[in-house]
Amino acid sequence: MIFDAIIIGTGAGGGTMAHQLAHAGWNLLIIERGDFLPREKENWDAASVFQKGQYNCGETWIDQKGKPFEPGTHYFVGGNTKFYGAALLRLREKDFGEIEHYGGLSPAWPLKYQDFQPYYQKAEELFEVHGQRGEDPLEPPEKNPYPYPAVSHEPNIASIADKLKKEGLNPFHLPLGVRLNEKHKENSLCIRCDTCDGFPCLADAKSDAHHICINPILNLPNVKLLTKTKALKLIEKNGQITEVQTDQGNFQAKTFIVSCGAINSAALLLRSNVANSSDQVGRHYMCHNNSAIVALSKDKNPVIFQKTIGVNDFYFGADDSKYPLGHIQLLGKVKAGMLGADAPFFTPKFVLDWMADHAMGWWITSEDLPDPNNRVLIKDDQIHLHHYPTNMEAHERLLKKLKHILSVSGHRIHFPNSAYLAKQIPIAGVAHQVGTARFGHDPKTSVLDIHCRSHDINNLYVVDGSFFPSAGAVNPALTIIANALRVSDHLCQK
Ligand SMILES: Cc1cc2nc3c(=O)[nH]c(=O)nc-3n(C[C@H](O)[C@H](O)[C@H](O)COP(=O)(O)OP(=O)(O)OC[C@H]3O[C@@H](n4cnc5c(N)ncnc54)[C@H](O)[C@@H]3O)c2cc1C
Ligand code: SF4
Repeated sequence: MIFDAIIIGTGAGGGTMAHQLAHAGWNLLIIERGDFLPREKENWDAASVFQKGQYNCGETWIDQKGKPFEPGTHYFVGGNTKFYGAALLRLREKDFGEIEHYGGLSPAWPLKYQDFQPYYQKAEELFEVHGQRGEDPLEPPEKNPYPYPAVSHEPNIASIADKLKKEGLNPFHLPLGVRLNEKHKENSLCIRCDTCDGFPCLADAKSDAHHICINPILNLPNVKLLTKTKALKLIEKNGQITEVQTDQGNFQAKTFIVSCGAINSAALLLRSNVANSSDQVGRHYMCHNNSAIVALSKDKNPVIFQKTIGVNDFYFGADDSKYPLGHIQLLGKVKAGMLGADAPFFTPKFVLDWMADHAMGWWITSEDLPDPNNRVLIKDDQIHLHHYPTNMEAHERLLKKLKHILSVSGHRIHFPNSAYLAKQIPIAGVAHQVGTARFGHDPKTSVLDIHCRSHDINNLYVVDGSFFPSAGAVNPALTIIANALRVSDHLCQK
């Protein structure tokens, strides 16, 4: 059988694409290397998720020094959206243009914010984003409100927001994809628990690609999903992909849509030796400069759902910085099981419990810059990820700004949160991976055209985070979703 399209990967990009093309009547085969994530008590157990790594991918990749590491990525239906913190932000309007940074230039995108704007709106509707327009000073133009009201602050978070406002900052309600109905709790799927950011949702209430995109199309007669099926190679004949080779057999289609996540998509293209006449596949890997900071205070932090504040006042600079610094947001509730992964083995549990009770987690993100030497390579069929940090001055300055915020809010920085692996997230922290098959007008310097179609092969598309020419400094998933909606419109109009 020859399918209209084969979609490889069911995360933010592939799941969204599958949802759209399925409803447009395409005869689809969806291939996903992972299984459905089991619903079990361990979904919400910090020790199982963070210390035992129960849902980790278990693979070994190699860094630029030849050192093996286990990447922090997940292979399940829904991809990494099963674990994400569901902070769904748009890139800023200026992010689509060229921007000067401490570390050099962030290149312009081949399209403008206005090209993405209608798709951001649709993405927020599809993923049921809760937010409040008008609070974030750098919010890109949008006349429509968020589809759902902002997730409210709990009292001590509201008090931190007030303190920040007194300092002249503009904390805003973080836009979140959780299916929460605060007015009618009896109708709310989301129970506002303390195990959201980094955990799968046992209540099936997180707006992940599994529940939002894949589940609703599974019973359609034109959709077939193969789980536990890994795409190994795309087979090219006469300038077209004709079939995909998997560990469960070969499958044919008219159109192939790769969405394995930026690193695995590059790996698949490299293993297949396709779409790489530019020698750009796998290059320009970006993942943001991220740090997770745990702050302790002498008072207990009674918060349950913590991740409700974002701060963009330093995104494009500060009084003492003419270059951009980045974005700040709260992390989810810090749990003893997360701290345990970083603490010496002899740390008594009551110490970890005390610390978790008094902790508040923050996440800071600065833009890293595309560098051709930061790249995915395949050697002996194994993924090698070379990464040399870029633009670190911005990150260090942003950390200083966060310290100021913490002093204002009565906390002090204590130690890095190992749940996210280290203070400065190391190479294994690939959560924000983008850029390995960037889109552009010039086939010599980009892999994909502006419709995310390979310049070399006209029935091959890549719709995950690979297409980003620059990373901005907000979490990437909403842009990946919006782009998949844009590409699916293009495919349906063809
Ligand atoms: C703990 C955590 C927290 C995060 N929090 C946020 C957040 O708050 N906001 C935000 O915007 N982003 C967040 N992210 C990042 C976000 O999850 C990703 O940006 C997004 O999921 C990427 O979408 P994608 O389609 O590119 O890839 P993925 O979602 O990774 O999907 C790729 C899919 O392809 C499958 N696959 C891979 N290789 C193959 C193959 N060879 N054959 C078949 N299938 C394959 C994988 O199993 C996976 O299902 C977070 C990530 C993590 C890990
Ligand atoms: S806060 Fe809501 S969406 Fe998040 S894990 Fe808990 S129930 Fe699920």
